[in-house]
Amino acid sequence: MIQTDILIIGAGPTGLFAVFEAGLLRLKCHLIDSLPQPGGQLTEIYPKKPIYDIPGYPDVLAGDLVDNLLKQIAPFKPEFTLGERAETIERDNDDQFVVTTNKGTVHRAPVVAIAGGLGSFEPRKPPISNIAEFEDKGVTYMVRNPEEFRGSKVVIAGGGDSALDWTIYLADVASEVTLVHRREGFRAALDSVEKVRELNRRGKVKLLTSSQVIGLSGNGKLSSVVVNHKKMGGTEIDADYFIPLFGLIPKLGPIGDWGLEIEDNAIKVDTFDYSTNVPGIYAIGDINTYPGKLKLILCGFHEATLMCQSAYKRIHPDKKVSFKYTTVTGIDGFKDE
Ligand SMILES: Cc1cc2nc3c(=O)[nH]c(=O)nc-3n(C[C@H](O)[C@H](O)[C@H](O)COP(=O)(O)OP(=O)(O)OC[C@H]3O[C@@H](n4cnc5c(N)ncnc54)[C@H](O)[C@@H]3O)c2cc1C
Repeated sequence: MIQTDILIIGAGPTGLFAVFEAGLLRLKCHLIDSLPQPGGQLTEIYPKKPIYDIPGYPDVLAGDLVDNLLKQIAPFKPEFTLGERAETIERDNDDQFVVTTNKGTVHRAPVVAIAGGLGSFEPRKPPISNIAEFEDKGVTYMVRNPEEFRGSKVVIAGGGDSALDWTIYLADVASEVTLVHRREGFRAALDSVEKVRELNRRGKVKLLTSSQVIGLSGNGKLSSVVVNHKKMGGTEIDADYFIPLFGLIPKLGPIGDWGLEIEDNAIKVDTFDYSTNVPGIYAIGDINTYPGKLKLILCGFHEATLMCQSAYKRIHPDKKVSFKYTTVTGIDGFKDE
């Protein structure tokens, strides 16, 4: 069981910055995210886009902002459960919350801060009737650790940036990589498309366009996929892994069933401290709603800051928060704790 002071659900910019503000108050944080990496929408949807409304940065690439946030919170040693979705919440006899993920990892904390953004990103799955049977037995919707595929036969499906980027990366890791795409053209960065075509010419990658994976087979574990070409029909290909990369759909997901007041797919909060109707559970960033709410990164930062002050009082009801500027405290004093 993972024990912490503030359990943050969602490692987008809001959740990450909450670690900093909590750290200044000497509160430990653990973050859960269903994506395999931190950064939320910034990493998943627009890592290469410049953002112009972060105070103090005339412009910053979304991916760079996430890298900087991770650097900024590193002294506070946050811990992460990545690639797992927070599924259930219960309150135990000591008035602590117990949050369990879809993979069974159990976390316990006196305070939960939901920084779930648009909700958990769920993979868009292809309509193959027996796909669920092979999930985690060869079928995977995201690449968490590319080393897992070393020396294996991998079939990737999709025509966007993720499908092409992983095809290029895994060409040097897997023993065989086949990219299957239902159209002739791709909707990915031109240089990635060119690189995949070049890898195909050199025989490093098999490219099957105008084709779709329509069947999976194996005995307890995936061993082959059936690829159907628009004109030429079906062929069976040996495969240890099938990675469909058709994008992610944001869903409020299980959080919607946690007894929280929901309005328009968002969690209602009190703007005094961004607390929800359940004492001890807060909601910050894009996931919350209140009169005048703006879904902006800087609003999430502000909400995270006020939430931490309130969380401190809840965790240490007998102590007073002593508010100090970072220009006075610095952060060196926090590094070795
Ligand atoms: C294309 C685009 C451009 C944008 N440009 C700007 C801009 O210029 N300026 C600006 O201020 N904002 C911009 N935004 C909005 C900004 O990205 C959001 O306001 C910001 O990402 C919100 O941060 P967050 O941490 O609250 O949520 P998110 O970034 O959405 O992160 C939430 C995280 O929570 C995780 N999660 C949710 N539920 C669960 C669960 N049950 N279990 C585990 N994990 C869960 C999700 O996987 C996700 O990683 C833009 C958004 C888009 C899409």
